[in-house]
Amino acid sequence: MIVSCMDPRANPAEFWNFSEAGPVLPAIIRNAGGRVTEDVLRSIRVLSGIMSYGRNTVGAVAVMHHADCGLRNFSNDKVKELLKERVGLEGEKAREVDELEFGSFHGDHSLEESVKEDMEKIKADPFLPKDLEVVGYTYDVFTGKTTEVAAL
Ligand SMILES: [Zn+2]
Repeated sequence: MIVSCMDPRANPAEFWNFSEAGPVLPAIIRNAGGRVTEDVLRSIRVLSGIMSYGRNTVGAVAVMHHADCGLRNFSNDKVKELLKERVGLEGEKAREVDELEFGSFHGDHSLEESVKEDMEKIKADPFLPKDLEVVGYTYDVFTGKTTEVAAL
């Protein structure tokens, strides 16, 4: 299973050759930033549960964040400001947007740090198998190079 950004430049199916991985293709969860949110954890739990029913199991999850990500270039506050402006939200609805978390990479975090942060979220989840392997990668959209982030 792979968690990656929805950015079209960061599509694992394009930069990793899955045909060499054998007949079982990885599930890919993509969202803004490739961040491990509660819904990403939900999807990993679901797949871990239903795959254990069949012949295959979810053995590993790879978290991948990429260079030049929109969530690295825009802070949470900036995303909120732009969204409120674009939708025309005011008053209570604007205040509700202020309470939302968009998963920005906190500016000075390195790509490796944010990958490790999300790897830790998966490892700390009490509803996932203890033997689930969690690995991390960074992807450079300019060179096409992936780099493994040291395991926890
Ligand atoms: Zn991105």
